[in-house]
Amino acid sequence: MSTCAAGPTDAKVVIIGSGFAGLAAASTLVKGGFKNVLVLEAKDRIGGRVNTVKPFTENIIEVGANWIHGQTGNPLYKLAKEKNLLSEGPCASNNMCQPRSVSSRDYFFKEDGKPVPNKIVDQVSSLFTKLTDKAFDDQLEPKYQDLTMGAYLDDAFGASPLAATEDGRQVFEWCKRNECTDEASSSLYEVSASQISNYIALEGDFYNTLGPGGYRAILDVLLKDVPSENIKRSAPVKTIRWDLAKEGHCEDQRYPVQVICENGQSFQADHVIVTVSLGVLKEKGTTLFEPALPANKLSAIKNLGFGTVDKIFLYFEKSFWPADCEGVQMVWKGGPEDKDVYKSLSQGDAWKATWFKKITGFDTVARHPTALCGWITGREALYMEKLQDSEIRDTCLRLLKSFTGWSVPAVSKMLISRWGTDSHVRGSYSFVPDDVDGVAAQKALAAPLPPKDKSTGKRLLQVLFAGEATHVNFYTTTHGAYLTGVREAERLISFYKK
Ligand SMILES: Cc1cc2nc3c(=O)[nH]c(=O)nc-3n(C[C@H](O)[C@H](O)[C@H](O)COP(=O)(O)OP(=O)(O)OC[C@H]3O[C@@H](n4cnc5c(N)ncnc54)[C@H](O)[C@@H]3O)c2cc1C
Repeated sequence: MSTCAAGPTDAKVVIIGSGFAGLAAASTLVKGGFKNVLVLEAKDRIGGRVNTVKPFTENIIEVGANWIHGQTGNPLYKLAKEKNLLSEGPCASNNMCQPRSVSSRDYFFKEDGKPVPNKIVDQVSSLFTKLTDKAFDDQLEPKYQDLTMGAYLDDAFGASPLAATEDGRQVFEWCKRNECTDEASSSLYEVSASQISNYIALEGDFYNTLGPGGYRAILDVLLKDVPSENIKRSAPVKTIRWDLAKEGHCEDQRYPVQVICENGQSFQADHVIVTVSLGVLKEKGTTLFEPALPANKLSAIKNLGFGTVDKIFLYFEKSFWPADCEGVQMVWKGGPEDKDVYKSLSQGDAWKATWFKKITGFDTVARHPTALCGWITGREALYMEKLQDSEIRDTCLRLLKSFTGWSVPAVSKMLISRWGTDSHVRGSYSFVPDDVDGVAAQKALAAPLPPKDKSTGKRLLQVLFAGEATHVNFYTTTHGAYLTGVREAERLISFYKK
């Protein structure tokens, strides 16, 4: 045994972060017989990138994660089903317009206020789905293997007769902008085409909607396992001191790890599980740890992508769209997703003047018949986060009016997410950039510290890492985050079984 603790009953474990990864780790450890588990959470609420709120009515809004992606083999789908937390009926529908879910209920408008013919929208979105599926299914032709997702899609779409029409090209550009919400990227010219196949989309409906309790209801299931006194909120961790006790020197230093909060409070531990987001590691990875993280972990943190996706919820007293309309999608002549526009705006600040072109559209919102949700990603989302709510609201109203020509009433309430400027998250989710070995980086990020002793082959398991960005197949998702928490808890459970 290479720790100073004798077993699960006296081993002290500190978990940093109370998102899905942190709570899954805590619940698994408690169920595994660990008696000293402490969760330190920087925010005054638990959940991290899951944030279920009721800002408009008695019904919930999800500021962060909304859907459970996939069914077969998805532990959160299973849990939600077992506990009767899934939504059935009309509320179970997708609500977000994406190329693979486009229907005639999605109203596509052009900049000049004219609708885009449904036929073109259908044809282009089906082709776009086929092309992205090829990348996800590892079916890319060799010539596309080293390209970015944007360059691959441009080339493959260019071969279709649809690319010969202006409407076809513009809807294709909308599809690319929309795909950025899945990749949390500024542009598809930053995302690897071939490595997307490492992401596994689980079988079954991909957009499982939760019932009236939303994602918070699943967190509550996990919280039942963890005594509330074992979770400290408003406890931001400033320093993680590790490698304090060398093997065999327990008499000098009982605990190998010390966790120090910003208010000076400190906690000793045998093991710490770090679940903070990749965005937080990018910002604080070099100062949070003493001694510093090894070089391979620091370069994994630097190289993996962590992008921003934001939601703009607009609540009206009355809906102003036709009853069958599921959302308004905006198709630009020269949108920010277009290769030439992207290139021309890559330097300087000119892109800031047209930040709003990055909003894909405004979708209707489950359980809120008079609300719309706008989606925006990347650097434009980050730029928007710094603007006043009133400026964002006025811009959205202008867009809705000019694209649809409808009479648009005043917004009565609004809620805008600001995940990029949130100092405890610093973005929305991870992606694999085109020039990075994603799996190697994700594995390096997940590896416990100190590194395995080469001569003895032993692991000390002082600092363990979980969180969405440490999963090689389910990164970006809640179930990925959950599984990494379970993974690290099980690593400790089996450590004490040896
Ligand atoms: C807008 C948006 C939409 C999304 N939509 C979906 C979706 O529909 N489906 C889906 O599956 N996924 C979705 N996701 C992704 C999903 O929310 C995340 O992958 C998942 O919740 C991440 O969980 P985590 O535990 O890894 O990290 P987090 O939830 O980020 O948890 C980390 C915790 O660490 C805390 N922390 C940070 N620094 C410190 C510190 N110094 N000290 C103490 N605590 C600290 C944070 O406050 C946070 O609570 C979405 C995310 C966003 C932002």
